[in-house]
Amino acid sequence: METQILCANYDADNTYFDDKQSKDIFKSNVYAHQDVKSALVRIQNHKCCFCESKVTHISDGDVEHFRPKAEWSKENDNGTKTKKKPGYYFLAYEWNNLMLSCQMCNQRIKGNNFPLVNETARANVTHNYNVEAELPVFINPTLEDPELHITFYEETPQGITYRGRKTIEYLQLDRLALNEVRKEKLKDLFTLRNVVNSIVDIDSREKAVDILLRRLHEIIEKNDQYVNMVKANFSDFL
Ligand SMILES: [Zn+2]
Repeated sequence: METQILCANYDADNTYFDDKQSKDIFKSNVYAHQDVKSALVRIQNHKCCFCESKVTHISDGDVEHFRPKAEWSKENDNGTKTKKKPGYYFLAYEWNNLMLSCQMCNQRIKGNNFPLVNETARANVTHNYNVEAELPVFINPTLEDPELHITFYEETPQGITYRGRKTIEYLQLDRLALNEVRKEKLKDLFTLRNVVNSIVDIDSREKAVDILLRRLHEIIEKNDQYVNMVKANFSDFL
């Protein structure tokens, strides 16, 4: 219903979005309704869609629009920015465009930034435009497996693909605060692995491996924060 109104407004006047503030167009009490938020919290296990941090420890999280609703921007090779309106207004209330995110990733870092691998696919963004033709630079964790694009060396994320490298760069997934908290997460696991590697006696070593494996599977089954980092670092045990 809300989407139909926006599309009709655009059809009547294609400058409709140009001079309006986002808050005057989009209803946050609809796209960020508590029911929507609660469902996203449950589906994403309280984790930010980009940095994998548990957001609900410190806030109730943001409802992030993967494709920005009000306007989109991208950085050009020469350092300038292209910013355009309208944004993806027709996806403002679409379930598959909504994700739970931490404030840092959503408000401070990503904002309206939405680069494409194939920029030529994006001429005018309107509701008649086929978003399927786009290949976003950002990995969409609801549609794709981030592990195919990003791995970790200890606590540091590393891009396996172009999109993985750019996602890390644009979303600052290697920022100091994140690296520090991920390092902390690995500390006990690395200690346990050192113990395993130092045991010569086969039976004792097997017991220690069991303990390590139990801990790793617990993290994976709980879909705990930074699980992809843990899996990447212990792939030889898993
Ligand atoms: Zn985040």
